[in-house]
Amino acid sequence: MPIYAPIQSTIEKAAALLAEGDLVAFPTETVYGLGADATNDRAVALVFKAKARPQFNPLIVHVPSVAAAEALAELDDRARRLTQRFWPGPLSIVVKRRTDCPVSHLATAGLETIALRSPDHHVAQALLRALGRPIAAPSANVSGRLSPTTAEHVAKDLGRHVKAILDGGPCRIGLESSVVACLPEGAWLLRPGAISAESIAEVVGPLRPAPAADVARAPGMLQSHYAPALPLRLEAGRANANEALLAFGGQVPNGFATVRNLSPEGNLTEAAAHLFAYLHELDRPEFSAIAVMPIPERDLGIAINDRLRRAAQGTTSTGI
Ligand code: AMP
Ligand code: MG
Repeated sequence: MPIYAPIQSTIEKAAALLAEGDLVAFPTETVYGLGADATNDRAVALVFKAKARPQFNPLIVHVPSVAAAEALAELDDRARRLTQRFWPGPLSIVVKRRTDCPVSHLATAGLETIALRSPDHHVAQALLRALGRPIAAPSANVSGRLSPTTAEHVAKDLGRHVKAILDGGPCRIGLESSVVACLPEGAWLLRPGAISAESIAEVVGPLRPAPAADVARAPGMLQSHYAPALPLRLEAGRANANEALLAFGGQVPNGFATVRNLSPEGNLTEAAAHLFAYLHELDRPEFSAIAVMPIPERDLGIAINDRLRRAAQGTTSTGI
């Protein structure tokens, strides 16, 4: 995996790799990002695979400008004021996805909301403009390890997973962006970071306390996890009346009202790429439940099963 000095030709090369669905690490003012074309489900699945995260957390989607953010999400007055004050810069805003938002549902972990940020770094900006699409990018480290602030950190941790690293030298801030939800229910801090809660409150007024997880599931509130409205039946074999089937692998049982197959070849990266889109498609009132075939508990199957178990609990109890 080459480490490139960021000049026009290497930035264009990196953008071409992203456009093909490969992963590229790039510098921002906060930490190095593990970037994927945010509109490509499979590329986003590779991000989770590379980080070896046991869960699908929603990723921050990077955009070059406020105009690019407005094309993906609905920004209210407060969100606009925040972008005017802090963008480009280390503030991510969580806002509602537009219905026609082309960003992968895996990148937003099935949620109706999306975290957006415009990085204050000339290499990140040049990469975004060369690609012409949003870039989903969590910190470029294996889950549980320190966030990388140099290209060497990235190479050591994730070198074999990325097709290129753009070396912008050490990150100026070296601390993650602050994440603030900006939704009809109010504004609240989801993650403290480079911009203080006080300076955010100066722009949007007092921040509300984060809603408790159970409150967050009330209609319209920010859900911390996506759960379908239909009951989920895991480890399903035979069909019950009127069930939809979320299948996996080549041997699909008969008798279901409809079937979506996460991966007929039994490929877990492909299955992760399809998970949220297919759950959304099957979650329709004409079915009695969504039955889910067993998914192997390895690689991305661990995160897939984690999310399915949470979703199955969410429909039968108050847990999330
Ligand atoms: P990282 O992946 O390390 O950059 O962290 C991303 C942070 O943004 C996590 O704290 C996520 O929970 C948060 N985040 C990203 N997207 C969303 C979203 N749609 N809704 C709520 N939080 C989000
Ligand atoms: Mg991180």
